[in-house]
Amino acid sequence: MSPAVADEAPRWSIAIHGGAGTMSPERMDAETRAAYEAALQAALDAGAQVLADGGSAIDAVTAAIMLMEDDPKFNSGRGAVYTWDGVNEHDASIMDGRTRDAGASTGTRNVRHPILLARAVMEDSPHVFLSREGAEQFAAEQGLELVDPSWFGTEARKRALERYKEAQMKAGDTSQLAIDTKFGTVGAVARDKDGSMAAGTSTGGMTGKRWGRIGDSPMIGAGTYADNRACAVSATGWGEYFIRVGVAAEICARMRMKGESAQVAADAVIAEMGEMGGNGGVIVAGTNGDLAFAFDTAGMYRGRADSTGRNAVAIFASEVD
Ligand code: ASP
Repeated sequence: MSPAVADEAPRWSIAIHGGAGTMSPERMDAETRAAYEAALQAALDAGAQVLADGGSAIDAVTAAIMLMEDDPKFNSGRGAVYTWDGVNEHDASIMDGRTRDAGASTGTRNVRHPILLARAVMEDSPHVFLSREGAEQFAAEQGLELVDPSWFGTEARKRALERYKEAQMKAGDTSQLAIDTKFGTVGAVARDKDGSMAAGTSTGGMTGKRWGRIGDSPMIGAGTYADNRACAVSATGWGEYFIRVGVAAEICARMRMKGESAQVAADAVIAEMGEMGGNGGVIVAGTNGDLAFAFDTAGMYRGRADSTGRNAVAIFASEVD
């Protein structure tokens, strides 16, 4: 690639994440690492292809997330974590920066692709946020694919719930929701060749969640935000803190009103959230085609690509990407 090409502002750009957490290069064997990298690459390529073909940011985000929802390595769709009661419940949201239309769903148990449900809420309902049985009923009416709840279950996540419950019994403390600190939520942000921004996020939430707990992922402004005037953001981490800070909208507001770059705004808001006691990360796309990652954990499954030829996936904080 010639330097002249690399210096051009990208015509399109996309970033994805598959969750942040305490992963370390020492504790992850080569086979597992290669499998995660391949899964991230496949999702990144699916989204990038949509954009390279002239497609919209909202279609690119949807394509990337759908692949990760079907991959049991990530905590979304198949492979979602278990609730305290031993079921998988999904949350998702999506936002179109052109119009700031948005859609979200929480607590569904049988919708194969929660991101498609969020998108249907955005495009085919007068609402922004649907929950539980009502959301499932809407999904059925929209003709979305429904599956037996066993489709989502995995042994690894079941064991994580058992470990979580054991630790809770010993400690008698329910304040720390996350024993499995590899969060694993998935998300994508994109800017298309027309300058439109989109963001989406999909998750099973946090291991052992109960009482109908809802995290940041399906909350517009906390886990997801997109605005053609500023940015697109998808978050992953300890949802309670992301909600309190309003992480995704806060990053966009800083970029829009203070003129901060994607990286500066993301670093500042993640630091603020960390000071309150939370942890996690974000992916951010800027209107100029910039892509930024910010996280205060040991790693975040991530990848980014753009029309200048950039294309890389990474896991650990120590990796240059
Ligand atoms: N943010 C998600 C939640 O709190 C968890 C995650 O990112 O993995 O539900």
